[in-house]
Amino acid sequence: MARFDSSSGSESPSPAIDGEKNTKRSKSKDSGKKRSRDGDSKGANAAGANGAHTIGERRSSVSKPARDFRDKPEPSPKKKKRRTISTPATVKEAPTPDEAGDSPARSPSPFIDFDGLSRPSVGTRERLEEDDAQKEVRLARMKGAVRTLLECVGEDADREGLLATPARYAKAMLHFTKGYQENVRDIVNGAIFQEGHNEMVIVKDIEIFSMCEHHLVPFTGKMHIGYIPANAVIGISKLPRIAEMFARRLQIQERLTKDVANAIMEILKPQGVAVVMESSHLCMVMRGVQKTGSTTITSCVLGCFESKEKTRNEFLSLIGVNR
Ligand SMILES: [Zn+2]
Repeated sequence: MARFDSSSGSESPSPAIDGEKNTKRSKSKDSGKKRSRDGDSKGANAAGANGAHTIGERRSSVSKPARDFRDKPEPSPKKKKRRTISTPATVKEAPTPDEAGDSPARSPSPFIDFDGLSRPSVGTRERLEEDDAQKEVRLARMKGAVRTLLECVGEDADREGLLATPARYAKAMLHFTKGYQENVRDIVNGAIFQEGHNEMVIVKDIEIFSMCEHHLVPFTGKMHIGYIPANAVIGISKLPRIAEMFARRLQIQERLTKDVANAIMEILKPQGVAVVMESSHLCMVMRGVQKTGSTTITSCVLGCFESKEKTRNEFLSLIGVNR
């Protein structure tokens, strides 16, 4: 948590920052009185996001755990019952003891959990472990939901052009979110090499296609990843694949940037990691403020990139953001 707070100081302010994010930040600052603050701000959020919330609904959202992993690690048994799709075994929010043994100096990592799923959500394990029959049930539910959407926008879901759309969209959506079925350890697959190399390594212009979790529309752009090894280097193709894994989940750009940086930090334990992402959000371009040319830039710098301005600037000028 300390690492996040300090790293967020060096992040570029993003136009996409909204009220919710600000709320999260202020919450994490005074974690001492977290419980009451948490309740208050969640309630305010719910009311702000949807004026139609009744008081009863708002009360139930107060008891939900915060979405951000920093805010509330312990699961609430009440919440588990309300979300019937989850079983107690589906979410592992704390690392196992042997993971903690791997890196005693580090705080428990939410990015690489006991089997590398990296902060799974409530349904992640269920999706990962389902059999063919359960897969069919999932697809059928998704198709039904898409059909409902078609009807609700005023379409005839039975006209020829739309007949197969629910099935197509359901499959496309599963593809857009396939990162929930991947895990960092499988991706890295042992490709860490003790090379004694200690110079900066950069992979830039990694194409990213992700989904905004607030609007379920895409945001696309480029990510630049740099790190300075502490002797060990990672197979260079693994960096885009790690980025891809986190991008293929429901995301906000700020968290995606941090997820990638922290995952690399955890896997490789280099001297430092820097991740910069520039992207265009369809939810901004197609609706809302409709600023078609705007780019959102987020960054997360850890380790020596955070502590040494010179190193950070070298990275920024090499990726061409510092022009
Ligand atoms: Zn959005």
